[in-house]
Amino acid sequence: MGIEVWGNAALAGIFGLLIGSFLNVVIYRFPKMMELRWAAELREAQAESSGGEADPLPVQEPFNLMVPRSRCPSCGHMVQWYENIPVISYLFLRGRCSACKARISVRYPLIELATGGLFYFCVSRWGLTPTALAWCGFSAALLALAFIDWDTTLLPDDITLPLLWAGLLASALQWIDTPLFASVFGAAAGYLSLWLVYWGFKLATGKEGMGYGDFKLFAALGAWFGWQALVPVILMSSVIGAVIGIAMKVFSSLREGGYVPFGPFLVGAGFTAMVFGPQAILGAVLNLLGL
Ligand SMILES: [Zn+2]
Repeated sequence: MGIEVWGNAALAGIFGLLIGSFLNVVIYRFPKMMELRWAAELREAQAESSGGEADPLPVQEPFNLMVPRSRCPSCGHMVQWYENIPVISYLFLRGRCSACKARISVRYPLIELATGGLFYFCVSRWGLTPTALAWCGFSAALLALAFIDWDTTLLPDDITLPLLWAGLLASALQWIDTPLFASVFGAAAGYLSLWLVYWGFKLATGKEGMGYGDFKLFAALGAWFGWQALVPVILMSSVIGAVIGIAMKVFSSLREGGYVPFGPFLVGAGFTAMVFGPQAILGAVLNLLGL
């Protein structure tokens, strides 16, 4: 790697650390913002059906990705800017709140490092190009989705749908290698195939095997990698999901209801496809299965 490419990639990596810090906020607050919105919609619907006016809302502090400032969940200590520097602050504070010494999850610096690493990878492979920009955005969205789904078993439309459109757009602009036909067909086939599996499973067993968010995420992966990637991606995420699900059962770390969210495994397959190409996934899965 030339010094200039390396320098650009290193800068992208640092930028990625900052974006990772933002993703931590998104992962933590997005589900809470959705809850607040649902609660508000429910109130309105209830008021409408009872024919009356909704009771005046209790005055609510704004809660979004920008405000309020971050606080320690244990003691309410307001996080200062110098306590909010990606990775460095965590190391400097030795993973504890400066006021109450409560442990800060190691997940925060790990998500920052992962984002930085992915951004570094994208720029070192594609240079300072729209292609690298597209894959950096793809990476950030996938990271946020994986952790939100893991925490809450939700894949917010506000992330999956823009991800899908962005894939179609990046393909139309030829920022990514996927031809437009493969991208459009991939999005449609991705959604429909899981939709069919969902209803087949539901009619056969009366249970819901996955959520609508999974269809949209799969459709988005179809838009980014083309329809040819759908089978490799679903195979890889199912195999890894089954392995992890069984491992969690063995170590009895399954949560109530025994539900393992599928999104993180789709995300894992998405990253593998980005780094090694979708065809490499199929080879790896067939290897794993001994075929
Ligand atoms: Zn604290």
